[in-house]
Amino acid sequence: MTLPPTRRVIGPVARAGERPVGAARPRVSFEFFPPKTEKMEESLWEAITRLAPLDPAFVSVTYGAGGSTRERTHRTVKRILDETRLKPAAHLTCVGASRAEVDEVIHDYWNIGVRHIVALRGDPPSQGGIGGVYVPREDGYKNATELTAAVRGQGAFEVLVGVYPEKHPESPSLDHDIDVLKAKVDAGATLGISQFFFDIDAFLRFVDKARAAGITIPIVPGVMPVTNFNTLKTMSVACQTSVPSWLANLFEGLDQDPETRRLIACSVAAEMCAKLQEQGFNDFHFYTLNRADLVYAICRVLGVREIAPASSEAAA
Ligand SMILES: Cc1cc2nc3c(=O)[nH]c(=O)nc-3n(C[C@H](O)[C@H](O)[C@H](O)COP(=O)(O)OP(=O)(O)OC[C@H]3O[C@@H](n4cnc5c(N)ncnc54)[C@H](O)[C@@H]3O)c2cc1C
Repeated sequence: MTLPPTRRVIGPVARAGERPVGAARPRVSFEFFPPKTEKMEESLWEAITRLAPLDPAFVSVTYGAGGSTRERTHRTVKRILDETRLKPAAHLTCVGASRAEVDEVIHDYWNIGVRHIVALRGDPPSQGGIGGVYVPREDGYKNATELTAAVRGQGAFEVLVGVYPEKHPESPSLDHDIDVLKAKVDAGATLGISQFFFDIDAFLRFVDKARAAGITIPIVPGVMPVTNFNTLKTMSVACQTSVPSWLANLFEGLDQDPETRRLIACSVAAEMCAKLQEQGFNDFHFYTLNRADLVYAICRVLGVREIAPASSEAAA
């Protein structure tokens, strides 16, 4: 059977790849975590070098649970500033530190030239994850709203904050989460980054709710290419992010087949981004886990190509 000449069958990925002339280039950003060992540092820098030419809006560096990576986060952020043209966004949490200590970290970041901070409450260190009972320090910032205000009080930072399309595990309702996001925006937050998710409808509903509440800052989907389904299951229990049965089916029987898992991870994430593009989203934040290859491929599918030299040395 041949199709009539006017009909074209084209899916979301091909449509994304077909970006019409003049269409805005998608804005991407990448999350890294601070490396623990020299070997991990090497792979982080391989990833940064590969992804930097894609000209991300910013690259973020996480802060270990309970503030455990304060020095390593700082060192990684500093090296990014010194050796690349990237804009680092330093994650910062309220956990286990006094207001004075946190203020000092903010002050140091400003002085070395950091202009983006991801302001987070963090999770209680003892429970080691989301969902435990969080007790703020007497002399510390209570939550991300207070931290956001503190960061903005010290300089004209861009303040990025976390959002949870499927509700924060501790929150009584999505409406409460929207109120919290509104409070963070009123305190000076300039952009929201979402928790990873697979339920696109839930993300779209969350954004609609935020817009209806008068929240106008960009809300950027956080995209996690999943290569290890078992790890994902554990993480999603802690984060209370739903894992659809179709995703489980795709990974079923592939425990010993990492290569196929990687191919599937790329295809799932690329399709998700392409569907979000169809809904008008053009900003994507990738949880890279310090690996470049999958995210690089997904960016190509989205139509993001190299436009800048990888580092200041490369530019020299
Ligand atoms: C994109 C992203 C990156 C992350 N990176 C890190 C990281 O690097 N390190 C890390 O340890 N964790 C990180 N997290 C996890 C985060 O620390 C946890 O999800 C934590 O449980 C909540 O942090 P938050 O900033 O969203 O908290 P908040 O926005 O402070 O919200 C937490 C709770 O505090 C209460 N609350 C907040 N503001 C108010 C207010 N104005 N009035 C009343 N109640 C309020 C609400 O009950 C709310 O449910 C990240 C999360 C995301 C989405």
